[in-house]
Amino acid sequence: MSSAQYESMQQAGGSTSSAQSSSSDIVFACTHCTAQLIVDAAAAGMTVNCQECGKPTTVPHPAVQAAAEKAKKISDIQRQLKENESQRVEITGYINQLSIQLHRWQIRLETLKERQQKLEGELAEVSGFAVAATPAAPQS
Ligand SMILES: [Zn+2]
Repeated sequence: MSSAQYESMQQAGGSTSSAQSSSSDIVFACTHCTAQLIVDAAAAGMTVNCQECGKPTTVPHPAVQAAAEKAKKISDIQRQLKENESQRVEITGYINQLSIQLHRWQIRLETLKERQQKLEGELAEVSGFAVAATPAAPQS
């Protein structure tokens, strides 16, 4: 690659570099200032001067860069899975707690229904009505 070609690539790799990158370009970050740089794929492994800070930085090989991105993606997905799992455990815990509470309320409600029937029976007896009257509370 001639220096003229490199010059034009450096100009193309301005702030809009990522939008202009083609499949044969390598987009990478400067190791010093993390500026987004773009060079031709032929420059892989070479050391170039960053157009932002002027310091020499190494152009990564696409395969190495892809592997690094893949590893980052894997760890990101694993982190999200872990986060998802902890939320799942938390919500399952809430549901279990509420299920126990619901069960307690249902038992309490049954007890109240039985007490109501008993009291209504007593009331009927004291009032002189037949005990065998139709139950006031509907059976559930
Ligand atoms: Zn730099």
